[in-house]
Amino acid sequence: MRMILVGPPGAGKGTQAASLVDSYRITHISSGDMLRAAVKEGTKLGNEADGYMKGGKLVPDEVVIGMILERIKKPDCEQGFMLDGFPRTRPQAEALDKAMTEVGVKLDAVVLIEVPDAMLEERAVGRRSDPETGKIYHLKYNPPPKDIEGRLVHRKDDTAEAVKTRVTKYHSETAPIVPFYEEKGILKRVDGNAKPDEVTQRIAAVLNS
Ligand code: AMP
Repeated sequence: MRMILVGPPGAGKGTQAASLVDSYRITHISSGDMLRAAVKEGTKLGNEADGYMKGGKLVPDEVVIGMILERIKKPDCEQGFMLDGFPRTRPQAEALDKAMTEVGVKLDAVVLIEVPDAMLEERAVGRRSDPETGKIYHLKYNPPPKDIEGRLVHRKDDTAEAVKTRVTKYHSETAPIVPFYEEKGILKRVDGNAKPDEVTQRIAAVLNS
């Protein structure tokens, strides 16, 4: 299975990806995680991306496209992959389409997780992740165990201000990829306004239908 998870910041893409890649035995590729790792390591790509990411802006297409097209060529993607956070612009979607057509593989599904804008800021600002396990928590909706609270990370771009920019960018830059996949007949919409397990079941249902 080769698929994409699309949705606004705070829609739950990362949380859902973690459950789904286990059931479908495919490789999880998060462009945001890859960029954050590059920033941490201080690579050329990371230094270029850092300024954009802090403010909640999109990293330029040419940087992200190269990074992802290289990644999906790796052997662990042969059995399938789940892209999370990529593509985020129409040129990114077109570049992915071209690269996959060239090697003769197809996307099976694009899952759009829909969550009303009014809920996104609270979801993102309360989000914390555990650097040891990669698990994602929410201070109110999915509180972490007390003994790991001290090591949790609050993303630099999960501030109210950066989230507002990211939501605006989602509507102007990312939403145009929806009709692109709708025309191909592979877009599946899922209501993401529910508990994580319920959303996972809804995604599994549309993927199996
Ligand atoms: P995420 O973890 O998916 O929320 O991504 C965090 C940040 O990384 C975004 O706000 C962007 O600055 C950058 N980023 C991640 N994926 C992309 C992408 N496909 N295109 C451009 N920028 C991206």
